[in-house]
Amino acid sequence: MPEQYDIVADKLTKSYGKFTAVDRISFEVPRGSVVGFLGPNGAGKTTTIRMLTCFMPPTSGSARVAGHDVFYESMAVRQKIGYLPESTPLYLEMRVGEYLTYRGKLRGMGRADLKKAIGHVTDMCWLSDRLRWPIGKLSKGYRQRLGIADALLHNPPVLVLDEPTVGLDPSQIRETRKLIGNLAGQHTVLLSTHILSEVELICQRVVIIGRGKILAQGTPDELKSGSRTGDKARLLVDVRGPTAQVKSALAALPGVQEITVVSDGPVCSLQLTGRVDGALREQVAALVLQRGWALRELRSGGMSLEEFFVQIIDPGASSAA
Ligand code: ATP
Repeated sequence: MPEQYDIVADKLTKSYGKFTAVDRISFEVPRGSVVGFLGPNGAGKTTTIRMLTCFMPPTSGSARVAGHDVFYESMAVRQKIGYLPESTPLYLEMRVGEYLTYRGKLRGMGRADLKKAIGHVTDMCWLSDRLRWPIGKLSKGYRQRLGIADALLHNPPVLVLDEPTVGLDPSQIRETRKLIGNLAGQHTVLLSTHILSEVELICQRVVIIGRGKILAQGTPDELKSGSRTGDKARLLVDVRGPTAQVKSALAALPGVQEITVVSDGPVCSLQLTGRVDGALREQVAALVLQRGWALRELRSGGMSLEEFFVQIIDPGASSAA
């Protein structure tokens, strides 16, 4: 049976001397998805990425990439993974085409395959019109695209991108995000970033790491709704129907701990507090429909991903605020 996950970390650990930088972390990246890897400075993201990309071995635990063990099958992993480091070491005097040819040869790609691959990745990364440009003359956005093209050259199923939008201007950021979004489905992407809005825009799942440990993981909605941490979250529901009846019907749904009327009228607004997840949303929608009322709006009143991140990274700071 084909594996459902392209990255599986199992109690992955790295110690530098007595200091444990990554401490028994376990997470999975589903095939074809974009997963955000978040954490404050020094959390252990780069150390984890270096183990996944076979730049250094784990102290204990294991990880598999595209079905191969990073320790025992590192050559196979290198074939299956493309890596964009935070600062791409590009040769400034080389031309774009030359650089990609050089990189492909280093990977042992044959001439015909390489020509085809360069055509494909430069198309995909909107670089076709820069093939003859010296890298030193490219803007930072174009250099970043070249880094991604390089990571994609051997058509790896898995891509690890470390802070791909750092230092780019807003339009370059938008283009790079679009490019990463286009990779989903064809490739599995682990995206290390500090930018939470980026995660909400392009990631299906999020893994949050702090001081070498996994602090939370789930979809952005699950994290914001508190369903992964047991926190209460809010759901705001606008219904055209009799307020008292709507309120008592919704109050009876499992997971609803409190219900308050925000506004009354032909369309009433109610705030539900409790375990808000996908199932509850579906139950609310089905119930309203079944009673013959009209559902005007259903929106999360939970925290933003940024609030969640701050709370989980530094619980003291958020409760003091
Ligand atoms: P940033 O976002 O700042 O890049 P990070 O999440 O990538 O941070 P790492 O670079 O993985 O974090 O570092 C995790 C911890 O391990 C930090 O405390 C760092 O100082 C420490 N560390 C990293 N590399 C080494 C090393 N070679 N020797 C000793 N300690 C190290």
